[in-house]
Amino acid sequence: VVSFKNVSKSFGARQVLTDITFDVPQGQVVSLIGPSGAGKSTLLRCVNQLDRHTSGNISVAGQQISPSCRQRDLMRLRRHVGMVFQSFNLWPHLSAIGNVMEGPMTVLRRPRGQAREQAEALLEQVGLSAHLDKYPGQLSGGQQQRVAIARALAMEPEVMLFDEATSALDPEMVQEVLGVMEKLAGSGMTMLIVTHEMAFARRIGHRVLFMVDGQIVEDEEPASFFASPATERGRAFLSRAL
Ligand code: ATP
Ligand code: MG
Repeated sequence: VVSFKNVSKSFGARQVLTDITFDVPQGQVVSLIGPSGAGKSTLLRCVNQLDRHTSGNISVAGQQISPSCRQRDLMRLRRHVGMVFQSFNLWPHLSAIGNVMEGPMTVLRRPRGQAREQAEALLEQVGLSAHLDKYPGQLSGGQQQRVAIARALAMEPEVMLFDEATSALDPEMVQEVLGVMEKLAGSGMTMLIVTHEMAFARRIGHRVLFMVDGQIVEDEEPASFFASPATERGRAFLSRAL
């Protein structure tokens, strides 16, 4: 569903991704880990082109994305990709269900009743049936993040990106969000997950990409990466992170 071939990315003179190549087949769950500044967020943001790559080829859900493709192509791409950030970015003036209905109604032109039905089902899936009409300000961080996940899913994405989705949460709320992500992984969603939760990366993913200095240094099954990384940098990273 996602394919990178020799992808590089610079911000001005500074190269932050170097010759990245990988393929994520449908239904695979990939954890992206590595030290701060490795380029994990930039890689994720290239998938939906919030950051444009400088060279190489990216394909998402069958669509080829070149460094020079047009705005119209980017709009089409982003419909197929859901993203959840560290900050929840909900619309504060809309209720939980309003947040989930908004995209389907405005972008996909779904009738209100149909959008509402789907939003109710999604909010039930993330455990928020009791909070449909609350506003973001009335919800905890964990609840807001679960609304953000439901909102992304409402667009029926082919792939979901998570960039440190639990980093801004109080410890007691981390599990409820990880639980929702695990359930989603179990349902067959294709997922790319940047996380600092090593136990979670080990448990949820089919695969671990370990990045350092803008490059993928290891591409392994979680069991073998966490048991014995193939590289010295992987070993050093794990000894600090675990
Ligand atoms: P962290 O774990 O801290 O989130 P990361 O692996 O997500 O780190 P990125 O945010 O992708 O790392 O950043 C990779 C490099 O690119 C860093 O050196 C960062 O300073 C640089 N960078 C990121 N965004 C920009 C930008 N908009 N302009 C210039 N440099 C940037
Ligand atoms: Mg980051």
